[in-house]
Amino acid sequence: MMERVEVETHSPEETHEFAIKLAEKLEPKDVITLEGDLGAGKTTFTKGLAKGLGITRNVNSPTFTIIKEYKGRLPLYHMDVYRLNESDEDLGFDEYFEGEGVTVVEWANLIADYLPEERLIISITRSGDHSRKIILQPVGARFNQLCKELLE
Ligand code: ADP
Ligand code: MG
Repeated sequence: MMERVEVETHSPEETHEFAIKLAEKLEPKDVITLEGDLGAGKTTFTKGLAKGLGITRNVNSPTFTIIKEYKGRLPLYHMDVYRLNESDEDLGFDEYFEGEGVTVVEWANLIADYLPEERLIISITRSGDHSRKIILQPVGARFNQLCKELLE
C-alpha cells in the first residue's frame, strides 16, 4: 500500500519543525519535489529541511539562480525552476539527482520530463492565513518506507 502523509501546520515555525523531522530521515540521492502556488510555503519548507540537514547558511530563492548548493550533514541542492519555461533545456539536472546530496525542486512540474521516477512529491496548499496543508506522496519503495516511518 502506498503511504500518504498529511499534516496541517499553523505557522511557518510548525512547517519548519515538520521539515526538520523529514530531513533527519533523508539520504544521499533523495529527490523531493515541491508543488504549490506562489506563497504556499515551498521555500519556507526548504529552509526547514536545510536546518534539519545542519545547514547554517540562509536558504532563499534568488531571482536569477536556478540551482544553489549548500553544505550540511548532506549537501542540499535547492532548485527553483520557476523562471524556466515549460520543457526548457536540460541544465544537467541528473548530476544533482544522482549526486551525493539531497535535491529539493520548487515548481518541479516545469521540468517534469527530467525528474527521476522515484521521488517524494510534496504539495502545500493554503488552508488559512497561517495554516498550510502539507501532503507527502511517495513514489517508489524507499519513499514509501520513509512515509511509513513518519507516520509512526
Ligand atoms: P513559496 O516558496 O511557495 O512561494 P514561501 O515559502 O516563499 O512560498 O512563502 C510562504 C509565506 O507564507 C511566508 O511568508 C511564510 O511566512 C507564510 N506562512 C504563513 N503560515 C505558514 C505556514 N503554516 N507554513 C509555511 N509558511 C507560512
Ligand atoms: Mg519559493
